[in-house]
Amino acid sequence: MAVTFDFGQCAACGDNNSKTLQQCRSCGAALPWAKNVKAPASNFAAPGAPPSNPGPQNAPTKPKIGLGDIAYGPMVVQLLGGFLFVAGVFLWCGNVFRFFPTFPFVGYITAIIGGAIWRFGAEMD
Ligand SMILES: [Zn+2]
Repeated sequence: MAVTFDFGQCAACGDNNSKTLQQCRSCGAALPWAKNVKAPASNFAAPGAPPSNPGPQNAPTKPKIGLGDIAYGPMVVQLLGGFLFVAGVFLWCGNVFRFFPTFPFVGYITAIIGGAIWRFGAEMD
């Protein structure tokens, strides 16, 4: 018999009993660990299992406030309009001051379109 069991002493007669038993094999008294068998919740923890403590994970997850959370659609349109407006002003200046000549009114038209897109984006929501 190489199988070894966990043994304990009977509280009544002191005989050794396997803890798989519920009653003493000698006197039939209820063994001290018998009541634990009927509460399997405390016995089913695997030996050596790590406690349910994942460790210090107290680093607060930053609230995700990014472009995905706000209505960035109008913002993108506004940025595009602003970019066009600035580009139009640049082209207008380039024509007026002759440092970046394109063709007449191109800067004016670009700035008008950019301003319109900006206003459209500002009124989107
Ligand atoms: Zn006994």
